[in-house]
Formats: sequence, C-alpha cells, structure tokens
Amino acid sequence: MIELPEAIVLARQCNETLQGKVVEQVSVNSKPHKLAWFVDEGKNYQQLLQGKSFSYSVNFAGYLCLYFEDVQVIFQDGVNIRYLDSCPDHNQHQLLISFTDQSCLMATVAMYGGLYVTKKDIVPTTFMKASLDSMDCVSPLFTYEYFMSKATDKLSLKAFLATEQRFPGIGNGVIQDVLFKVGLHPKLKIRDCSEDQLRKLYEKLASTLREMVALGGRNNEKDLFGIPGGYEVLMTSSQLKNPCKNCSGSIVKENYMGGSIYFCPRCQPLKTID
Ligand SMILES: [Zn+2]
Repeated sequence: MIELPEAIVLARQCNETLQGKVVEQVSVNSKPHKLAWFVDEGKNYQQLLQGKSFSYSVNFAGYLCLYFEDVQVIFQDGVNIRYLDSCPDHNQHQLLISFTDQSCLMATVAMYGGLYVTKKDIVPTTFMKASLDSMDCVSPLFTYEYFMSKATDKLSLKAFLATEQRFPGIGNGVIQDVLFKVGLHPKLKIRDCSEDQLRKLYEKLASTLREMVALGGRNNEKDLFGIPGGYEVLMTSSQLKNPCKNCSGSIVKENYMGGSIYFCPRCQPLKTID
C-alpha cells in the first residue's frame, strides 16, 4: 500500500522523470480488476488526457497526484506505479498512460486501489476530501497540540493512529514500527499512556516518516522504477522469524481491528508499570 512516505517519494520521482512528456494514449483496465476503481469506468480518460503535457506531481497524504495541464491523475492505496522507457508487451495492467516518446506510466492494482482521472480541482472521493482537510504528519505545522487534538481517551493507539483518517496517509505499515520504537503496545489505550509517552510517540511518528522519505520509502514497497525503498521495516510478517532487535525475544502476530499487528510483548507491554 502506498502510504505517506512512498507518495512523497513517487511525486518527487515523477517530477524528475516526466518533464516534457506528452500523453499519446491511455488504456483503462486492460486486465479487468474488480477492485480497481475508476471515474465513470474510465470512459473519458483517453479524451481527457490525450495531447496533454505533464505539468507537475504532488502528494496529498498517501495520494499521488499528477497534473497534465488542466487534468489530474490520482492514485490511491494499493496501486503500483511504474515508469517504463518503452511500453510493455502485455496487458497485465489497470491503467497505462503512454507518451509520444514511447515511454509510459503503468499502474497495476494489488488488492484494491483507485485510479482517477478528472478535470483539475475536482475531488473524486469523500475519502480524499477528508485527507485534504487534515494535516500531513511531515508538515512543519504538525505540532504536538494538533496531534493530541485528535486523541480520545478510550481509543487504542492503533485506532488513534490508523483509523478515521485522523492522520491521512498513515496506515498499519508505518505505525507498527513507530509503536515498536517507542515501546508502546498497539492495543494500549490513550488514557493509559503518560504525557511523556504520548510526546515520544508524536516525535517518533514525525521522525520515522522523515527517515522513510529520506531513504526512498520502505523496503517492502517499490518506487517509480521498481526499486525497493531503503528504509528497513522492523515489524512485518517477514520479520516474524527474527528475534526482537531490542531484547532478542520473539515478535508476536495477532489479529486486531481487521488487520494484523506485530509487537514484542517484552518491549511493548500492554500493561504499563508505574
Ligand atoms: Zn523486545
């Protein structure tokens, strides 16, 4: 899944790579995917984009947005985006934007994902609107006071950080590492955390995201050229076989809130000892 660090890296790479490119052709859902979402089934994508030049790319939280003059292309969630010097000789993609110099952008959807092409300044989903109204965790304006304004006593830390778009672009992938680094259990309730712990959580969230961006994203996601990021993810399924980097104990996997959580029971105790 694209999360905030990968969206920032992809936007930067698009700006460096797509200057001067002009759209020649657009292929939509060549390999039909039930959970690939389009605007109006992508009927107008070719008409909207053909002949348009790349202007610039930005990220809004975890969304990658590419502007082609007065048209925008928005990728969301589980879309893999690749730049290729020449068009692929297969149809295994959900969106292919080819340019007049024969290079192209190929987008494929893993589990689910949005691929929206509209006129600029249209917000294609309510989910995206919620993201636009919130602040990025890497913004200089992302303060501890803002962070805590989203907190409610009874929320667990996973619910606080990864649900309801409180912190857009932040998902399970990012928060598990952050919680491990500060020694807090994903199920720990905010009311059971000290102010010191919450401050450390806030600081580590922002610093971990910056580290992920600086290293080109996480190593379990790929960039515009198919190269994994340089940030080594600590808490993920592939790390289950390895001991905890702090205490050499075992990492535990549990199901929680419709997804998996990974934690070290010793370094991230559920009960805090005063
Ligand atoms: Zn440990």
